[in-house]
Amino acid sequence: MLKGFEKILEKHDLKKTKPRISVLEILAERKSATSQPDLEQVLGKDVDRVTLYRVLKTFEEKGIIHKIIDLNGTANYAVCSSSCTEHQHHDQHVHFNCRVCLQIYCLDSVHVPQLQLPSGFTPDTVNHIVYGTCPGCNEKHLQA
Ligand SMILES: [Zn+2]
Ligand SMILES: [Zn+2]
Ligand SMILES: [Zn+2]
Repeated sequence: MLKGFEKILEKHDLKKTKPRISVLEILAERKSATSQPDLEQVLGKDVDRVTLYRVLKTFEEKGIIHKIIDLNGTANYAVCSSSCTEHQHHDQHVHFNCRVCLQIYCLDSVHVPQLQLPSGFTPDTVNHIVYGTCPGCNEKHLQA
């Protein structure tokens, strides 16, 4: 596993520091996006806040991860598809934010239509976010 993360860092000309590898490891492991407070908790004393902030910022700039703001305004991060680059993110996928468990899912398989903006508007980031109840929470609701 570790090898893969190291390759990602190498590809983006980033030094293989321990905080970078740890953060990448956590984010890649999760099926849903991970919130910043969550990351802080999992990393514990290993990585301080300032370092974490810097690592996330670098990863975002390099096109390794993308940020999703959840219902509460908290930043969440998910690993990007390999088509993202330093200057452009290509993950125009739908995000689903569950109102019950607050998890954010990257839904890559949902087709997203191209937006036709009026002339003069140049978009660099498009967010498609859907709020509702995720399969896990729907199931729990049925059982209750
Ligand atoms: Zn991206
Ligand atoms: Zn849920
Ligand atoms: Zn995503």
